[in-house]
Amino acid sequence: MSSSSPRWFTPSSILSYAVAILSVSAALVAGLLLDSFLDIAPYVSLFICANMVAAWFGGVGPGLLSTVLSILAFKYFFIEPTSSFVVESKDIPRLALFAVAATFVVSLAGAQRNAAKSLRRARDDLQMAVRELERLNKELLAENAERNLAEQKIRQAERELQVTIDTIPVLVGSYRRDGSPDFVNLAWRDYTGLSLDDLNGRRWEAVTHPDDVAVVDNERLRHLATGEPFQTEQRLRRTDGEYRWHLFSRVPLRDENGNVIKWYAAGYDIEDRKRAEAGLRRSAVQLEYAQRLSRTGSVGFKVATGEIMWSEETARIYGYDADTRPSVELVLQRVHPGDVALVQQQIDRARQGEQEFDFEHRLVMPDGKVRHVHVLAHIVKGDSDNKEIFGALMDVSAAKQAREALDKAQAELAHVTRMTTLGELAASIAHEVNQPLTAIVTDGAAGLRWLGQEPRVLEEVRNSLEAMIGEAQRASRVIERIRALSKKTDPEKAPLDINNVIHDAVRFVEREVLSHRASLRLELATGLPLVPGDRVQLQQVVINLVINGVQAMESVTDRPRELLLRSQQYEADHVLVEVHDSGTGFDPGSASRLFNAFFSTKPGGMGMGLSICRSIIDAHEGRVWASNRAGQGAIFQFILPFSGKGAP
Ligand code: ADP
Repeated sequence: MSSSSPRWFTPSSILSYAVAILSVSAALVAGLLLDSFLDIAPYVSLFICANMVAAWFGGVGPGLLSTVLSILAFKYFFIEPTSSFVVESKDIPRLALFAVAATFVVSLAGAQRNAAKSLRRARDDLQMAVRELERLNKELLAENAERNLAEQKIRQAERELQVTIDTIPVLVGSYRRDGSPDFVNLAWRDYTGLSLDDLNGRRWEAVTHPDDVAVVDNERLRHLATGEPFQTEQRLRRTDGEYRWHLFSRVPLRDENGNVIKWYAAGYDIEDRKRAEAGLRRSAVQLEYAQRLSRTGSVGFKVATGEIMWSEETARIYGYDADTRPSVELVLQRVHPGDVALVQQQIDRARQGEQEFDFEHRLVMPDGKVRHVHVLAHIVKGDSDNKEIFGALMDVSAAKQAREALDKAQAELAHVTRMTTLGELAASIAHEVNQPLTAIVTDGAAGLRWLGQEPRVLEEVRNSLEAMIGEAQRASRVIERIRALSKKTDPEKAPLDINNVIHDAVRFVEREVLSHRASLRLELATGLPLVPGDRVQLQQVVINLVINGVQAMESVTDRPRELLLRSQQYEADHVLVEVHDSGTGFDPGSASRLFNAFFSTKPGGMGMGLSICRSIIDAHEGRVWASNRAGQGAIFQFILPFSGKGAP
């Protein structure tokens, strides 16, 4: 019941029933009035109208109510006996007809009302559907616009991709699952002069070098079967007929199940790289031969990490197999114990940022043989974290031995020459002086004989003595002459730049200096006036002083063996040359005798070097002298006049 109560007692249903009652009441009043005043009685029509109004307004329920009320009112007010609900039998058909007519009208009006209601509902539904359709239409239009935009963008992107693929300088192609081509880019077509149709007819073989066709085909078939990416190098003919090497990389495209659905390929021109590689291989072979022939290996050293790279020849010089991994330790293992400090010093110099390296040292091979190597290197990468030194290492053992043999032969020759000269000098002295000495002895004996006779012949004794004095004076003159001869002739003087003289002399002694592991430094003043002199003789002076300095440093091990050659102006009119060494210095007690002939403190020394120096400098009207340096070494100095007018 509760579910039906809202239907019957809604405000609108109460209003409908009220309208039904009111309309019947109105019909009744109108009927009564018409009856009283006009004496006409259209009761039936009035009640039918009231029923129609009630049914039309409220539907079947109120219509039926108004029908029942109309029948009751009709009977009560208008059918005899009035004011009573008693129905006479003759009136029953009349009332039944009225009831049927009223019910018919009510059901018609109710049906019309329901139809109108249904129509309204249907119209509302239709309107709603139309609105929904309009909304859907709008959405569809928006979707369409979006899709069009997206499609436009995709087409644009496709066009851009196509242009990109066609413009990149790479030969690009895509292939079906079976390997047959379905696309090649413009670069591909331009390079080969083939179209996609040509490819389908397998004319690509015509542009692949005949020697490469089989190799490429094999690779292709092998990888189509496995679906693995692969690369081939092949020569491809350009439209102008030139074959150029290309590297082709092919990769598969797989579906979500991992099946290959397509292949993509990209080909790069590697002709220049190939040529460079071939050139590099040729250079490497040439370099290897050159290194073999010249016994020179190359070597690289990364200062920060201590990493070493070496060539086969370097490994051979060090006495290691070519495939031995080089290291500082391996290098130091071979260095002669006497040279380890020197090599370590060079490594330290490299770490301190030194740029150039030029030094010699010895190696000791496992069989005890000694090798001499000359190292020449420089820094090729300068930044502090990434210093790399590259250089060459030359096996100079043979040259060294030859040089040593030559030096020895020269030294022996010089010695023999000096001895010969001395011998000749001695012989000529003996020869020249022998005769006056013999005469002195003869005259002395004659004088003695005269003194032994009685009576003594003093006159004869006087004669003998006078003859002896004469002979002695002659001997003295002979010696004087021979000394003058031994001083050689006057020097041939020409204006000289003393720095040039020093440079020339240094060239002669460079090797000697290096072989004694000494260094030579020059500090030469510029703009010095020329000095008149004999170039060869002055060179000889510098050479003698430098060699003496080198020899004086032979026993030095606790400090660098350093020579300094310096030139400068001395007073207003002289040039001064100094030779500094860091050797042992000389005994101050012997200072006055250093320049004497035959003074030597060296075993086997002749003591002629400084003496010759002094003779030469004297002949140039200059002066030479020596002094000890404080604690280490000596300084030998000489001065020469600009004008040749004599020493101050
Ligand atoms: P020698 O050939 O005997 O060395 P020199 O005339 O060249 O003849 O030298 C004579 C001596 O002078 C040497 O034996 C040596 O004692 C000394 N002398 C020469 N140069 C130096 C030097 N630079 N340092 C120390 N002593 C030296």
